[in-house]
This record gives sequence, structure tokens and C-alpha cells, in this order.
Amino acid sequence: MTALRGNLERLEEAIATACRAAGRTRGEVELMAVSKTFPAEAIAEAAALGLTLFGENRVQEFSAKALRAMERWPGLPTEHEWKKLRFHLIGHLQSNKAARAAELFDGVDSLDSLRLAERLNEAAEKCGKKLPVLLEIKLSAEATKTGLDPESEETAQLLERLPDFSHLEARGLMTIAPWGAPEEDTRACFRRLRTLRDRWAATHPNLQLETLSMGMSGDFALAIQEGATRIRVGAALFGRRTPPTAVGAEQA
Ligand SMILES: *Cc1c(COP(=O)(O)O)cnc(C)c1O
Repeated sequence: MTALRGNLERLEEAIATACRAAGRTRGEVELMAVSKTFPAEAIAEAAALGLTLFGENRVQEFSAKALRAMERWPGLPTEHEWKKLRFHLIGHLQSNKAARAAELFDGVDSLDSLRLAERLNEAAEKCGKKLPVLLEIKLSAEATKTGLDPESEETAQLLERLPDFSHLEARGLMTIAPWGAPEEDTRACFRRLRTLRDRWAATHPNLQLETLSMGMSGDFALAIQEGATRIRVGAALFGRRTPPTAVGAEQA
């Protein structure tokens, strides 16, 4: 047994408190369990506790876990088979791995270039999928962070062309708040993502941009206050990652 059950209980209490404070219902906020660096067994345990949406940030790492899970699935109740779980990529994806990512994942929440959108669309078509995607928006100047500059020409073009990518389904926006920033900066970052979503939903009525994926272990309560519809929680569920990996900096 690990600490997962207790961690999940505490996390659910904190999410409920944040929702109440924001005048929102628990059902408005989806919990993504970020299982990167943890083994397939941790996913099995989380699934047995009712979690269904998982975030992984590297293609190769997840590929190995998926294989392992298919071969041997220890301790998982039958109603929670692997195939009923949803796995989204949340880390930077290199275009040359788009084909494998389209095969493996149920969604890509880290779409950060027009070129990648083209590649993913082709790859999703080849595997006969319609792939849900979130645009990852870079809202802080940290050098290691990937993501689209919201005011760039590339972002404008991507928003324009998304409806033509018939095998991608735009669902919304994702961002990572600056690490260790003062609360006000973090809040401003989340607020800005929501403002961008509202603006682009108005200027691009043919896109469905409901999802706002923002907030992690350290800042999900703020994100909920600012309108997050999906929070991505790793450490507060699974414990500290060893060796610690820089959030968002990994190459998929
Ligand atoms: C690792 C990671 C998370 C989870 O971070 P925690 O602080 O462990 O909750 C969320 N989003 C992204 C993009 C990540 O890479």
C-alpha cells in the first residue's frame, strides 16, 4: 500500500473547499492525475480508487508503461481496465514523435506549434482517430517553458486553421504558471488564460474552447478560483518525484 488513498482524500477535500470558495460545483473541475515518472502500478492503484484521467509527459516513458500494463495488470479490478482510462500528453512533443503520440494518447494537451498541429492531424488521420487537443500557452518568460506566445502570428494562424484539421478537435487552453512565483503573479497568469479563452471563443465561434487546464499541486486552489476546468496534480497524489524533473521542461 502507498499513501495514495490518503493523499487523494486530502486532495478531494482541498478541491471541494476551493470550489465552495469560488461558488463552483465539484463537477465543474476535472482532476487529471499526473503519473509521469511513476510506474504502471501507481496508475493501477489510482484507477482502482476511481481516477480515470491521467497526464504523462514523455512518449517513450508512457509507451513502456502501456506495454507493461497490457502484459500484466497487477491488482486492478476488472471494471477499470486500462482501455477505459484516458491518457493525455502534457509535455512538449517533438514533431518526429507525433505519429507514436497520436497512436498512444487519448489527447494532446500540449499543442505548441502550427507544425506540430499539421503532423498530429496527419498522424491522427492514419490511425483513424479524432484527437482532442489543448493549445499550450506560454504566459511567463521562463526560458525553459514551451508553449505558444498568445500574441504571435503563429498562434493567430493556428487558431485560424484549427477547424480545417479534420482529425484534431480543439477543446481549449493549457498553461503552466511560473514556478515559485508570488501568489498574485500566479493568479494573474490563470486569469490571463481565461481572458484569452474568452477572447478567442468570441473571435472563433467555430472552435470549442471550454477547457481551461491550469493549476498543479502547489496552485490548484488559485486556478479553481480563476476558472480552471481541469487541474493537473502529480506530487500531491503520488508523492515527490525522484529524481525531481523540471515541470514542463522535459522533451517528449
Ligand atoms: C509535472 C506536471 C504537472 C504536475 O505537477 P505537480 O506539481 O507534481 O502537481 C502538471 N502539469 C505539467 C505540464 C507537468 O509537467
